[in-house]
Amino acid sequence: MPTYEYECNACHQRVEAVQKFADAPLTVCESCGGELRKVFSGVGIVFKGSGFYKTDSRGTSSSSTPPSSTPAATPPSSPAPSPSSSD
Ligand SMILES: [Zn+2]
Repeated sequence: MPTYEYECNACHQRVEAVQKFADAPLTVCESCGGELRKVFSGVGIVFKGSGFYKTDSRGTSSSSTPPSSTPAATPPSSPAPSPSSSD
């Protein structure tokens, strides 16, 4: 979920809000009731999926075992990891 940062035009207080994309943006400062404007700092939004492919060096050296050489009789030992996002 993205984090938006706002700054009050009146008291210049910074406000961070975690919102969905569908949520309406904040417009009123909770401290003084002034007008908030959205600040794009770029540090609050992190896409966890980006760069994942960079660590996946497929097609290069044979450090990993091809799945075709695995015996088909091997039962699934480890269950799939459940998503950790509790929200
Ligand atoms: Zn304010």
